[in-house]
Amino acid sequence: SGLDAARLVASRVLDVPDFPKPGVVFKDLMPLFADGAAFREVVDRIIAYHGPESFDAVVGMEARGFVVAAAIAYATGVGVVPVRKAGKLPRAVHSASYELEYGEATLEVHQDAFTAGHRVLVVDDVLATGGTAAATLELVERAGGTVAGFTVLLELGFLGGRERLAPRPVHALLTV
Ligand code: AMP
Repeated sequence: SGLDAARLVASRVLDVPDFPKPGVVFKDLMPLFADGAAFREVVDRIIAYHGPESFDAVVGMEARGFVVAAAIAYATGVGVVPVRKAGKLPRAVHSASYELEYGEATLEVHQDAFTAGHRVLVVDDVLATGGTAAATLELVERAGGTVAGFTVLLELGFLGGRERLAPRPVHALLTV
């Protein structure tokens, strides 16, 4: 059930204070990724929530999103497309920049990443302010995809990412 998935995430996340900088509590999901049965369960829950026929490709955001995206893609037989930090992709890209607490970040996707009209499921580990997700969803559409859904394992509700992404729906296995 969905409750079980939430409990699985809750029981396998480690809070790391002051990482990567003072005042931030980093949500480390490596214990979830490292537990084969738990990882398979959350991947299966995400697929079941959206429906295995509802998407034609999966996008993950660098770098922890790649782990989840690849597993979903393999399990459903669709392809996986990376959205990467600036300067990593070798061919022509679309770029989207967004504000961080200090400074700016840029994400990129290959211009030919999607067949026109491909329905794209977007996944990441943690939703915080939503800047990363907003940029990624914009890139999917600029590259010709249609956003079929957006899922995270863990949502930090107090940072307002869901409101920032509205009216797009956000699915989170666990919200804290
Ligand atoms: P944001 O753009 O603020 O929603 O940040 C989301 C991105 O940064 C995701 O790719 C997360 O992996 C990462 N991130 C942000 N805050 C945290 C946190 N407290 N713990 C773990 N990852 C985080």
